[in-house]
Amino acid sequence: METERRVLVVEDERTIAEAVAARLRAEGFVVEVAGDGPSAVAAARRTPPDVIVLDVMLPGFDGLEVCRRIQAERPVPILMLTARDDETDLLVGLAVGADDYMVKPFSMRELAARVHALLRRAQKGQETRDDKILRFGDLEINQSERRVLRGGVEAHLTPTEFDLLVHLAAHPRTVLPRERLLADVWGWADASGTRTVDSHIKGLRRKLGSDLIRTVHGVGYALEVRK
Ligand code: CA
Repeated sequence: METERRVLVVEDERTIAEAVAARLRAEGFVVEVAGDGPSAVAAARRTPPDVIVLDVMLPGFDGLEVCRRIQAERPVPILMLTARDDETDLLVGLAVGADDYMVKPFSMRELAARVHALLRRAQKGQETRDDKILRFGDLEINQSERRVLRGGVEAHLTPTEFDLLVHLAAHPRTVLPRERLLADVWGWADASGTRTVDSHIKGLRRKLGSDLIRTVHGVGYALEVRK
């Protein structure tokens, strides 16, 4: 029997919340809707969802704060909804642990595809968890515990940053195009999302040091670790 998959939709605009919930229910998800920051955090605590669709602008406290609080308790894939294609919202959202984002207005078909992609990734992460430890110079990636150390110091990565790093580490010194990273790590192949890749690379460099990942301009990224 297929296990039930739960989505928490956090959106104060009722018509959007209802449309998103209806589409996801039609896709077979069990959907709960919360209309403000505090009730979103309470709902996630009460019945842990498998994915969260989270609007940034909310009453109470905003979606970024919701993201921060929920991720601090238990990592869960988060698709963020923003009103404008605002670089600041996007960067802050990804920094506090959102995995993907969509700019309003969006199509329900696209939204459903992104939610499915997030779930597939989370599931793949579970299946590939084994005792394998990847080592490159002073970088150590423990896949079963999803922990990363550099020079013996633990770096706290978001789930997406971790998956991206593992993917780069699986092909060391190989230049991986941004479009391919987007398809392989995020599970979708829309080239307009390559900025999402750039933002997560920025996060990895901030947490692990700027010498780890080489940019090949106009192409993509490669993991470079001195032996
Ligand atoms: Ca809103």
